[in-house]
Amino acid sequence: MITLDGSAGEGGGQVLRTALALSMVTGQPFVIERIRAKREKPGLARQHLTAVLAAAEISVARVEGAELGSMRLAFRPGPVQPGNYRFAIGTAGSTTLVLQTVLPALWSASGPASVELVGGTHNPLAPSFDFLDHAFAPAVRAMGAPLQLTMRTAGFYPAGGGQLRAETSPAHWRPTERLTVGAPIVHARVLLSQIPSHVAQREQRVLSERLGIPLDAVRIVEDCSPGPGNAVVVVLTFADGGEVVTVLGERRVTAEEVAHRAADEAIALRTAAVPVGEYLADQLLLPMALAGGGAFRTVEPTLHTRTNAEVIERFLPVQFTLAADDEKAWRVSVQPRA
Ligand code: AMP
Repeated sequence: MITLDGSAGEGGGQVLRTALALSMVTGQPFVIERIRAKREKPGLARQHLTAVLAAAEISVARVEGAELGSMRLAFRPGPVQPGNYRFAIGTAGSTTLVLQTVLPALWSASGPASVELVGGTHNPLAPSFDFLDHAFAPAVRAMGAPLQLTMRTAGFYPAGGGQLRAETSPAHWRPTERLTVGAPIVHARVLLSQIPSHVAQREQRVLSERLGIPLDAVRIVEDCSPGPGNAVVVVLTFADGGEVVTVLGERRVTAEEVAHRAADEAIALRTAAVPVGEYLADQLLLPMALAGGGAFRTVEPTLHTRTNAEVIERFLPVQFTLAADDEKAWRVSVQPRA
């Protein structure tokens, strides 16, 4: 039984999600104590509980401590079952994070699978649907892990009700390298629901000016989400993958400011001249470890990335190397442990 301390390193939900994912893939049971101890409201929130219950259903697991607020969980997986699944978070909790928990297991299953998730699709502190669709999914497909995504409806805090669907089939893993970066093709998207359309038009204007792209390269998408919401998304497409910046509209923050924040982040990413940004970096570690190798250049690794690497090394016979290439760029690689 692998024992994990949920308060170690970054001390958030990622430790739990990575453990669930790799427990299902490897069949190794685990216990985690002090779940999310470093968060304001520690323990299992709705999103994490949904991830636990989803993982338990997919791998016919025996579970102790699967309750809201629980700070301890024991998880003993059985064999992963392919099939069609549907999980509703019940709040605006992030559907993308729940999906990332179950994907590795589905890639290791004996046949195709689909997952429908209901909850938030554009949340703070989580990958947006667009990030998954344009940054994460192309990266894992390149590693041999099939993933097709569709968003039927967006879900914003606090109403939620967004609907995301993923289709997978068994992976044929192969290591990839993303070390160089060319000039990206840049386009953007302004997503809004139950918000006056002038907000989108003002965001579109700022994005077009700041990113130096025509107005029609900034698409306005009106969504019929159950609640109001606004997200500005910038997609950078490189020859061998994509990167995505997402900034959510907020009360008391002007449309111009939201668009400027997104443009600042996108320009910073472009100026950093690395193919993988800080968020994609921590999310690529697990698929890369399953592929048994690979490398990418990125910005200085976050505590999130370091913590995730440590959790993965507890479950898989791999070793990560995080090394500074020069002042600004780092090289992250993984290889089988000797
Ligand atoms: P945790 O804080 O442990 O629940 O993990 C949050 C996850 O969301 C990490 O994998 C982050 O890389 C990811 N994440 C947070 N913010 C963003 C963002 N703006 N874009 C993409 N991914 C994000």
